[in-house]
Amino acid sequence: MPNRSMPAAPYPTPGALLMGDAFNMRHPLTGGGMTVALSDIVVLRNLLRPLKDVFCASPDKARQEMREACFDYLSLGGVFSSGPVSLLSGLNPRPLSLVLHFFAVAVYGVGRLLVPFPWPKRIWIGARLILGASGIIFPIIKAEGVRQMFFPATVPAYYRAPR
Ligand SMILES: Cc1cc2nc3c(=O)[nH]c(=O)nc-3n(C[C@H](O)[C@H](O)[C@H](O)COP(=O)(O)OP(=O)(O)OC[C@H]3O[C@@H](n4cnc5c(N)ncnc54)[C@H](O)[C@@H]3O)c2cc1C
Repeated sequence: MPNRSMPAAPYPTPGALLMGDAFNMRHPLTGGGMTVALSDIVVLRNLLRPLKDVFCASPDKARQEMREACFDYLSLGGVFSSGPVSLLSGLNPRPLSLVLHFFAVAVYGVGRLLVPFPWPKRIWIGARLILGASGIIFPIIKAEGVRQMFFPATVPAYYRAPR
C-alpha cells in the first residue's frame, strides 16, 4: 500500500457534514485514522442528542398519504412492484417509466382518498398530494430538459442515457 502524508486541508462548507478521512486524513503511520473517525461519530452523536427525532416524518397529511400510497402501490405486486424496483435498482434508466410510475402512485393515492366518498377535506388533501408530487418531478424534468428526458434520440449521443 503506498504510504504518504496527506496533510489536512479541511474545507468547511455550510450544510455539508464530513467525518473521518473525508474531512481530515491522518498519515497512515500514526495509526490514528480509526480513532479520528470514531471520535467524529461521538462528536456528531453529541451534537444530535438534543434533537427529538432526526428522521421524523412530516406532519403534513398529504405527505403521509403519499407515503402510504407508495407502500401500497408497491404491495400491489406485478408491474406496480417490478416497475418501481427496476428504477430503484438501476435496471431501468428510462425517465418516462419514472414519470409514469411517479404519477401513477400520486393518482393511486388520490383515488384512495376519494373512495368511498369524496369528502371536501379529502379532495383538498388529494389536491395537495398532486401538488407535492408535481413540485418534486417537474423541477427535475425542467433541470434535465424535456427533450433529453422524453426524446433522447433527438439529442446528440453525449446527452443520452444508456439503453
Ligand atoms: C493501509 C492502511 C492502513 C491503516 N491502518 C490503520 C490502523 O492501523 N489504525 C487506524 O486507526 N487507522 C488505520 N488506517 C486508517 C483508517 O483505515 C481510516 O482512517 C479509516 O478507515 C477512515 O474511516 P472512514 O469511515 O472515514 O473512511 P473509509 O473507511 O475509507 O470509508 C469510506 C467508505 O465510503 C465508500 N465510498 C467512497 N466513495 C463512495 C461513493 N461515491 N458512494 C458510496 N460509497 C463510497 C468507500 O468504499 C468506503 O467504504 C489505515 C489506512 C490504510 C490505507
